Amino acid sequence: MNRELYYQSTRDASVRVTASQAISQGISDEGGLFVPCRLPSYTKEEIAQMQQMSYANRAAFVLKDFLTDFTQEEIRACVDAAYAPEKFENGVPAPVVTRKNGTHMLELWHGPTCAFKDMALQLLPQLLTVSLRKQHPETTAVILVATSGDTGKAALEGFKDVDHTRILVFYPQDGVSPMQKRQMTTQAGNNVDVCAIHGNFDDAQTGVKKIFTDSEIRDELAHHDMMFSSANSINWGRLLPQIVYYFSAYADLLAAGKIENGDRINVVVPTGNFGNILAAYYAGRMGLPLNKLICASNANNVLTDFITTGTYDRNRDFHTTVSPSMDILVSSNLERLLFHLSGGSDLSVRTWMKALSETGAYTVDPATLRDVQARFAAGFCDDAETAETIGRIFREEGYLCDTHTAVAVKVYEDYRARTGDDTPTVIASTANPYKFADHVLAAIGGETCEDEFENVRRLNERSGLAVPQQLADLAERTVRFTRSIDAGQMKDTVLSLLS
Ligand SMILES: *Cc1c(COP(=O)(O)O)cnc(C)c1O
Repeated sequence: MNRELYYQSTRDASVRVTASQAISQGISDEGGLFVPCRLPSYTKEEIAQMQQMSYANRAAFVLKDFLTDFTQEEIRACVDAAYAPEKFENGVPAPVVTRKNGTHMLELWHGPTCAFKDMALQLLPQLLTVSLRKQHPETTAVILVATSGDTGKAALEGFKDVDHTRILVFYPQDGVSPMQKRQMTTQAGNNVDVCAIHGNFDDAQTGVKKIFTDSEIRDELAHHDMMFSSANSINWGRLLPQIVYYFSAYADLLAAGKIENGDRINVVVPTGNFGNILAAYYAGRMGLPLNKLICASNANNVLTDFITTGTYDRNRDFHTTVSPSMDILVSSNLERLLFHLSGGSDLSVRTWMKALSETGAYTVDPATLRDVQARFAAGFCDDAETAETIGRIFREEGYLCDTHTAVAVKVYEDYRARTGDDTPTVIASTANPYKFADHVLAAIGGETCEDEFENVRRLNERSGLAVPQQLADLAERTVRFTRSIDAGQMKDTVLSLLS
């Protein structure tokens, strides 16, 4: 029997919940995020043992220490369903590919929707179903999702036709790629809904957060035996699965003889909501030998400025870029990092988050900033540099990356030139290039057109990279969802869809 692990809220540290409560609730009542009260940690020997494990077993190994109110059998069933080999290209969920220049790419996009969100969103519905059964056996979970493109599709695919769940996805009408839009608007399943918002991702995310904390709508739901839950990375059940692949990458590098056990590695993450890189931070605190965590942003470089100066300031122009899943000015998961780095000070977090919502900015104290900078480095690159990087890496190394991954590649090149740090480095590769076929095709010198499937064909011809069947199939699927609304109508839309 493992020692119990509880979760507390970043805005009220006296709140104590179990894993199944944290996962079914999504967000704490006062608006804080759930974080573990303590972290498990692994020895060198335990990390070495992961080499012999399948991905599902690596996941079960880590999950058992966090989900202490789940049985071993429940965890087993969850990971076996989520990481079944047939769901992932070549049966491998998170392969590490070493480029010609020696940099390691952790490819997280071989799942059902071709983006790294699958790594968490194939597992979250399993975790949520078990959590609901423990906490609220008669209740249907209504999953509200704000998406910058990839989360929406991955959540729809993960939750479609899952008993006792309904899912409703809001996406910014002009803020997602043509392929992302088509993936969502053609979604199958009888418990799914998709709706476009006139606005950007932050408008959608703010709207969803407001609905979550609206007591009128919560009461209305309760009346129908329903409750809200979240599939965004504010839900602990979204973050936890992401910790696993950093251990998995390290184990794979060990097995391939690319590093010695105990060697430190850098991790570079193309960042939006700060979920993926936060998972790497947790892995580091759990014994994974990490050197720097390098946070890569696009032109929406609010995190670069924060990590450099200690001031988070969202009062700036919002840029729609070629890496739309990173077009975010309010990175929700930073709140979790700040809670940990301030020594669990819910008072500090409340003060900063209040300033953020009232003035759009806050500045952390010098000690917290020092802690941030001890672990994190940061940089950003614009669309032109992103395209240049895709073209150059393809020409020189024959490696094709998507627009988000290219941001990380470029920011890492700059970091290395600036610091001379030659620690072995893993870059999180977050999407299949075909999800952004138009921009990737243009970046490697191809001519693009209006038809996204023609762009896919041309990209295939030029790059030789196989087109994932699930994207090719979309051409034949009928569009089911065409509704578009103002952000102010989100609440009414939720109510009307549920009645
Ligand atoms: C969501 C996403 C990101 C950003 O990840 P966060 O966890 O939000 O920081 C980066 N790249 C792609 C392709 C994504 O879908």
